[in-house]
Amino acid sequence: MNIFLKTEDEIELMRSANLLVGATLAEVGRHIRPGVSTRELDAVADEFIRDHGAVPTFKGFPNPYGSSFPNSICTSVNDVVVHGIPDAATVLKEGDIISVDCGTKLNGYCGDSCYTFCVGEVSEEVKKLLQTTKQALNLGIKAAVAGGHVGDISCAVQDHCASHGYGIVRELTGHGIGKDMHEDPQVPNYGNRGRGPLLKSGMCIAIEPMITMGKSNIYMMPDRWTIRTRDHMPAAHFEHTIAIRKGEADILSSFEEIEKLEGQNI
Ligand code: MG
Ligand code: MG
Repeated sequence: MNIFLKTEDEIELMRSANLLVGATLAEVGRHIRPGVSTRELDAVADEFIRDHGAVPTFKGFPNPYGSSFPNSICTSVNDVVVHGIPDAATVLKEGDIISVDCGTKLNGYCGDSCYTFCVGEVSEEVKKLLQTTKQALNLGIKAAVAGGHVGDISCAVQDHCASHGYGIVRELTGHGIGKDMHEDPQVPNYGNRGRGPLLKSGMCIAIEPMITMGKSNIYMMPDRWTIRTRDHMPAAHFEHTIAIRKGEADILSSFEEIEKLEGQNI
């Protein structure tokens, strides 16, 4: 395992990249409404990222199957858990949910954050899934302090979601982040307190619970990217990039602009 601790200067560079991700997600959020296609949302994000002097890290990102991700954001609607490919045929409708995952590289450092938006009014049941997943992210962040272990984060996320009877996707995890979007260590959404790599000041990690309303079983579509729930129940995904500190984590990405936009409705 190769965990790179970041200097204060590097953490500030990462903050810039991550705040740009937050601003991009908010810009995409302003365009989310019934009738818009996920390809239109991708165009909004791509232009916004480049206008701010950054590169969308997802575009061209390789997977183990020799395929490069074709777009600048992942748009995952309803039963799509993650890695949904934006396209013209996927048009949002009232009551949908859509997770928008976005990565940027700015001045050599990466940002990575994801938010699940509601399209118009969604059912109370779906709202609860989103609220719980977002709470799990916040509990994971609270557990992420220097001197603790990665398992403290994993356990906090798992306990909260399991107590609501939701499924926890195990095949995909959070991760270290820095000059590369994916660095060591892995940050699973399940595990045991006190286990896993030691958390040290200067570690930067992305915490990203992927939580399902039904069972946690997933499958990959023939496009080799799109991950869906087997039972086709909806899934939620929220992600922040943070820097580990003594006492309290430093959240480098931001939902502030999105939450203003949403009027905190979830
Ligand atoms: Mg992400
Ligand atoms: Mg990530």
